[in-house]
Amino acid sequence: MSTRDPNAALGTGSEAESDRTVLWAPWRMQYIEGEKAHDCVFCISPETAMRRERLILHCTPHSRVMLNKYPYNNGHLMIAPHRHTANLAELPDVEFTDLMDMLRRTVALLQEAMHPQGMNVGLNLGTPAGAGIADHLHWHVVPRWIGDTNFMPVVGSVHVMPQHLLDSYDLLHPYFTAVSLTTTDMYNQK
Ligand SMILES: [Zn+2]
Repeated sequence: MSTRDPNAALGTGSEAESDRTVLWAPWRMQYIEGEKAHDCVFCISPETAMRRERLILHCTPHSRVMLNKYPYNNGHLMIAPHRHTANLAELPDVEFTDLMDMLRRTVALLQEAMHPQGMNVGLNLGTPAGAGIADHLHWHVVPRWIGDTNFMPVVGSVHVMPQHLLDSYDLLHPYFTAVSLTTTDMYNQK
């Protein structure tokens, strides 16, 4: 797959993508070579005191948004339902609506906070589709800037340093806490 393919920003570390990972996201080798966590990262308790360490930016009644620990770009976020499921088709309506609302709010908040020139937004269903954690649905939102994929494959890790994860967390967190209204509240106010 070409690194210019928009889907190249998605996926979380399947065997098939390791070549391009080496090309332009070398820090992701920690993920690929490291031990896979036994516990599902999207099922970790979102208790408030631990959210920063767990990179959880925001929770709604049915979903959460968190930073990707092995990002393709600065500000790479993931949105997942609290329910541990891989089955999109069977997600209850209320949970799907909550998730999609969180997804669009995340796009808006990322735009406001980081001013990307574009974004990749996507869902990988199943391991062959590139899902690194195939048994828990999660959407990727990857902010993009002109030139990021054009020079990353060439210069690799020499010139591309991901913003430290906790720096990204501290940058983004105020935007998410400022919008603490529930989905229902948001619609009722319109
Ligand atoms: Zn899970």
